[in-house]
Amino acid sequence: MIVAKTIREVREHVAQWKREGYTVGLVPTMGYLHEGHASLVDRARKTCGKVVASDFVNPTQFGPNEDLEAYPRDFSRDCALLEEHGCDLVFYPSVEEMYAPNAATYVEILSEMPKQLCGKTRPIHFRGVCTVVSKLFNIVQPDYAFFGQKDAQQLAIIRRIARDLSYGIEIIGCPIVREADGLAKSSRNTYLSPAERQAALVLSKAVFLGQEMVEKGIRDAKELLAAMTAVITAEPQARIDYVSAVDGETMQPVEEVRDGVLVAMAVYIGKTRLIDNFIVGGVR
Ligand code: AMP
Repeated sequence: MIVAKTIREVREHVAQWKREGYTVGLVPTMGYLHEGHASLVDRARKTCGKVVASDFVNPTQFGPNEDLEAYPRDFSRDCALLEEHGCDLVFYPSVEEMYAPNAATYVEILSEMPKQLCGKTRPIHFRGVCTVVSKLFNIVQPDYAFFGQKDAQQLAIIRRIARDLSYGIEIIGCPIVREADGLAKSSRNTYLSPAERQAALVLSKAVFLGQEMVEKGIRDAKELLAAMTAVITAEPQARIDYVSAVDGETMQPVEEVRDGVLVAMAVYIGKTRLIDNFIVGGVR
């Protein structure tokens, strides 16, 4: 596997692959990789001739009081996992390589979309995500890019910028990978103490309950969200940021739970903010 730390190296390798007729897939990550990330690499491996992953903790998507400094990092372990899953190149830039000191250009969706759900408590988050993903799209120029349903709002937003800015990149959404007991895999799970790790199960419990209720035919969002909320509030270490049912494309709240509706939550377990969700009718 090639380790590229500069934009120039990435461009040279990808240009060569394109001359040789390969399709290129991109898997953007912030590192500290787990089986969720690996599932995206596996999917890219099946779809594309060459697979590029990026491993970059993007400072512009963290708010001033968020966990940028504390965010876990282990590049040599990441490389081992990527290589095992058949990644061809990992892009591992420094902050200076990605952002000039006076960088002042951002990509931002001017609609309600990035203001809903996670955008309410993380007002600059999606601007940072859109900017770094746009930069990665420009650097790698992939044919396909792979994102997890775990970050459902992010996936919807990336689909929108790919369309609005005519990137010509096919965006592939991949299902949430969970621990055996249900907890969605996340690099941030590492922050949890053993007791918090146990308490964190309320997120997936609420998701599973919500899915069961929808399967039984419940369509009233209020009723669904009330039952899911009750599961979470029963856990004293859990503090709800939001539990919402929204249109899977616009992120606007809905009253009726139909196919394509995103039922999503963010919950603090101690100081750690975790997210989970399901899409009615499955990932599309
Ligand atoms: P991150 O490193 O957390 O920014 O995530 C990089 C990519 O991996 C994003 O597209 C995430 O949605 C995806 N991802 C993270 N956790 C999971 C998971 N448990 N299952 C599937 N995809 C995931």
